[in-house]
Amino acid sequence: MAAIVCYRRIPLINAVHKRCISQDSIRKGLVGMMGRTPLVRLNKMSEETGCEILAKAEFCNGGGSVKDRAALFLIQDAIKKGQLRAGGTVVEGTAGNTGIGLAHMCLSMGFKCVIYMPDNQSREKIELLQTLGAEVRPIPVVPWTDEKNYNHQARRFAESTDNAVWTNQFDNTANRQAHIETTGPEIWEQTAGKVDAVTFATGTGGTLAGVGMFLKDKNPNVHVVLADPQGSVLYNYVKHGKLERTEGNSITEGIGQGRVTRNLEGAPIDDALAVQDTDVVNMTFRLLHEEGFFVGASTGLNVSAAVQVAKQMGPGHTVVTCLCDTGHKYYAKLFSRKVLAEKGLLDCIPKEYQVSLHD
Ligand code: PMP
Repeated sequence: MAAIVCYRRIPLINAVHKRCISQDSIRKGLVGMMGRTPLVRLNKMSEETGCEILAKAEFCNGGGSVKDRAALFLIQDAIKKGQLRAGGTVVEGTAGNTGIGLAHMCLSMGFKCVIYMPDNQSREKIELLQTLGAEVRPIPVVPWTDEKNYNHQARRFAESTDNAVWTNQFDNTANRQAHIETTGPEIWEQTAGKVDAVTFATGTGGTLAGVGMFLKDKNPNVHVVLADPQGSVLYNYVKHGKLERTEGNSITEGIGQGRVTRNLEGAPIDDALAVQDTDVVNMTFRLLHEEGFFVGASTGLNVSAAVQVAKQMGPGHTVVTCLCDTGHKYYAKLFSRKVLAEKGLLDCIPKEYQVSLHD
């Protein structure tokens, strides 16, 4: 009864809520909470640019990030290929959201989960994965070219274990397939095909490649822009065909790349933007104070890039990006006055927004 009274008083919420109820019905378990995320209009950013700045709220996925889609597709791919049977083990080399997504899916689907990660990662990350039932194996940091690299160790462990699979998020294209089959079609449907540009930060490249491939197939004029953090090679690769790092070490986590992954191979990318940490941090705090979204730095980077793309295109266009995850995991660093001051990133946050910082 209370809800009905509320509907009458606020007709807009009534309409929106009713539509959600009729379209969404009941999700089947955690796996059913992968995808069909809201597409949110960022009001302030849209008004500022005269464009529609829209973002897929990927933190609404069951495991809390954009990587849940890939996690589910990687597991389903292994099952389809007969590499993983009931009670089996999912193995991945990851320090971030893919591990969290896989661990959630494994609990829900009845698999074991083993995560190899560099041993320089924060306690919070290790403890979160352990809480999610994963066995965490910290490995001394060595480059990809070294056989002792945590990814190679993950592969070897899976190869030597019965009924285990290394999901290989970087080079297994089941990752981008998740976005070809879910994120791309959702964006097309939610915008009724009115989308002029998309821009995404890149870790494995699955999101950008998958969404880009689906949308280009629907409309070759959709402008696909790679948004790159400091210290990644992809900006120079798209702009100049050279795998050269841009300057600096970014505060962002989970994005930036040193090579062209198989998920990125053949992706229809029109342009790239190199986004500075000062813009990333500024936008992360603007999103919090002006739009009400508590998000991580890769989202700050995505929206900063979307605003730049909108300004380049001019008023009247629709630019789509995503809100990758929430700020909770990054609270200790990204919202610390001390850490931001050490990195010279305090002054890019408007004074009145600095109330959100802890010491
Ligand atoms: N944002 C965050 C927070 C991530 O963890 C990742 C993936 N590591 C991305 C963005 C980029 O996603 P993708 O791997 O699809 O390029």
